[in-house]
Amino acid sequence: LARRPKQKVLILMSDTGGGHRASAQALAEVLAQRHGDKVETAIVDVWTLYGPWPFGQELVPYYRELAKRPLLWWAHFRASSLKPAAYLMSQLMSAVCYRGFEQCIREHAPDVVISMHPLCQAVPIKVLLTDLATPHPFWLHPRADLCFVPSDSFHKAATDRGLARSQLRQHGLPVRPGFSPKRVLATAPGAVTNGSSWVASRAVPSVLSELGLLPDRHTVLLVGGGDGVGKLGEIVHAMAQELAEYNAAGGAPSWAPAQMAVVCGKNQELCQQLQARDWGPHLHVAVVGFTSRMSDYMGVASCIVTKAGPGTIAEACCSGLPIMLSGYLPGQESGNVAFVVDGGFGAYASEPAKIASTVASWLAEPQRLAQMSERSILAARPLATERIADDIIELIRPNRVEPRARKNLWARRRTGQKAA
Ligand code: UDP
Repeated sequence: LARRPKQKVLILMSDTGGGHRASAQALAEVLAQRHGDKVETAIVDVWTLYGPWPFGQELVPYYRELAKRPLLWWAHFRASSLKPAAYLMSQLMSAVCYRGFEQCIREHAPDVVISMHPLCQAVPIKVLLTDLATPHPFWLHPRADLCFVPSDSFHKAATDRGLARSQLRQHGLPVRPGFSPKRVLATAPGAVTNGSSWVASRAVPSVLSELGLLPDRHTVLLVGGGDGVGKLGEIVHAMAQELAEYNAAGGAPSWAPAQMAVVCGKNQELCQQLQARDWGPHLHVAVVGFTSRMSDYMGVASCIVTKAGPGTIAEACCSGLPIMLSGYLPGQESGNVAFVVDGGFGAYASEPAKIASTVASWLAEPQRLAQMSERSILAARPLATERIADDIIELIRPNRVEPRARKNLWARRRTGQKAA
């Protein structure tokens, strides 16, 4: 292995939602930036490409349908968290998917396997987590060499499940490079006010004009995860009505006009519907489908409305955005709501009208918006990806002394070496 010019990192995930791929891309980009001379990385949706029927064809569409039905989601989450069910499912997955996973790993011949999906732990691999606060037990595999946990609650859940502290690293969730506030607060010393609470950096006008939006306005960013789910359409309509009324009436005394940017993700039907809509004379609205420019859009926004997806929350914190949460997947995303609300940089409401009025009340109070933005940045872990990448490089460093004896099944299987 040491003779290879570059070591190979294989990231296993599945495109259930957008967060797993986004985290995988974050790590791959940072590995390339910081350690491109030492490693090369492949990202593989192992379930879709190597899963047998029906998993290969149906897992991603099934997840998309499930994400639209929170109660059904919750039933799956709870049932599969129970020990006997989790055991049976692990056995079933291993039995059914073993060959496919093995083929994937043999084809890529990696030096390290990183799992960024709870359903990729059943094979003995190095583990990385991409939920924020409420771990499903499938994430926490005691045989992982390293398990990256993003929060205290995850850390505790991992030790409760028998992972040793030496196996755990807590750096935060990996976020793709580029997420940072591209505006400065107008209340910052030396800032020149322009009527709103933000002063844009030079990059902001070009992003806004590409979207057909105006500078010197608040921009409310609305998203529904990678799949554009969670009543996104209804929320957009309620928000449009509220902001158009405020804009038309001049709003509160300190009201600066507001506009909206809507990211529909892979929900093409909603994207087409919203793009065809006439928003009237008092509101500018940009509607896009799946975009790779989320960091640009967060960079120009004053706040974000989103379901409680861990990836979007982590990115919004790095961008210094107050966060209006509009829904969550019971179990998996419930802890994320407390993270935002208790952190003082957001609120939760499920009713579209309440969501719209809450956001309008923030925009009407620039000082409050600025405070929430500062708290959001405080909750960010912008160096998480770099630290995770460095730990992985350390893990695969040639001649590294193992901190504790362990069976590295895949390495031995690849090299044909026998267990000591
Ligand atoms: N995302 C993106 N482009 C889009 C919509 C979403 O890159 O058009 C990204 C978003 O920035 C985030 C991820 O998809 O990184 C969504 O992850 P999250 O954990 O919030 O929700 P999920 O979709 O996994 O349920």
